[in-house]
Amino acid sequence: MISSESVFDLMSEVYFADLRADRASKSVPQKISRLFKRAGLADTFHKGDLVAIKSHFGESNSTSFLRPQYVSTIVDLVAAKGGKPFLTDCNTLYLGGRSNAVDHLSLAAKHGFAPPVVNAPMVIGDGLTGQDSFEIPVGLKHCKTVKVGTVVEHTDSILCVSHVKGHMLSGIGGAIKNLGMGFGSRAGKLDMHHNIKPVVKTPSCKGCGECARHCPAGAISIIDKKARIARKKCIGCGECFVSCFNDAISPGKWAPAEELEERMVEYCYGIIKEKGKERIGYVSFIVDVTPHCDCVPWSDMPFVTDVGILASKDIVAIDQAAGDLINAQVGLEGSVLRRTWGKARTRSVPCMRRTGASSLSMRRSSAWAKRSTSY
Ligand code: SF4
Ligand code: SF4
Repeated sequence: MISSESVFDLMSEVYFADLRADRASKSVPQKISRLFKRAGLADTFHKGDLVAIKSHFGESNSTSFLRPQYVSTIVDLVAAKGGKPFLTDCNTLYLGGRSNAVDHLSLAAKHGFAPPVVNAPMVIGDGLTGQDSFEIPVGLKHCKTVKVGTVVEHTDSILCVSHVKGHMLSGIGGAIKNLGMGFGSRAGKLDMHHNIKPVVKTPSCKGCGECARHCPAGAISIIDKKARIARKKCIGCGECFVSCFNDAISPGKWAPAEELEERMVEYCYGIIKEKGKERIGYVSFIVDVTPHCDCVPWSDMPFVTDVGILASKDIVAIDQAAGDLINAQVGLEGSVLRRTWGKARTRSVPCMRRTGASSLSMRRSSAWAKRSTSY
């Protein structure tokens, strides 16, 4: 437990297992099973329910996405309790290997998210081209409604299984990113990104045109050997940040990035409101903690050592726990994180801090109790 007794009642339980092992009973699948039980995740669904295992199958050439063997264990636990698990994610806004269901399913299978590795079917949550969208009224600061894949409407329960790593806009990519951004339909992802306006750092630009080739909106031109962005055409997808290997594009001021985080949190609120808090559980793996997320087509060295696995029924608490545990590690000297994001460690979780105090009726971000099982 890492907080004072006086706030214990406000805490949400987050169960933690480290990754040390010297016998079969300490294997990762065994630890996942015990965490699943201790966190009461089987209570989030009933026998015969459709249970969406919200995952992320990794971009092409990424090698640090969540191991399918971990997800497989969760699938088996759900099936053993009578649920009907299926793996799901929604299509991406940017070009790449997951922008339509055909490419997405093919890439997922190539990465091992298919039988016989994972014994569950795959369903792309927003249809063939990301247009199967379901609107949930929320009436919050930025969003009147949130637009998510129709899978959110039709599934009975959700288990949000996240790989925790760095992220170029939200600082950390964990459960909030996985649920809120991940379940956004194409319209929803556009909505969350709308205020991101990238800026070319002209002196650093080599005029290679890589960003223009990746821009799905045709918003980038190379003029006089420098990239220029047509703001009116830009949809804020962020593809240019990650496609520039010269660190010559930034997301502009942090203010718009913070708005994206707030919007992402509002999307989480909508999904939780729609399904009911008791119908969603979370498992987060703090392994392969790379500076960039799994949407980029490469994987850098992790900037901290592998930490462990978390399980909870509280999305804010589990992400705060992940951020705290990462920040307690020694950072990798010379990590790209320092050059790109200005710090050797991930930023703390700003969207969660604000969310905890806002209208989202979630627990305070600082309120989590680390319940370590006896591993
Ligand atoms: S990818 Fe980077 S260096 Fe190349 S043109 Fe675009 S901004 Fe310039
Ligand atoms: S310019 Fe805008 S639309 Fe084009 S890749 Fe960058 S963020 Fe996406």
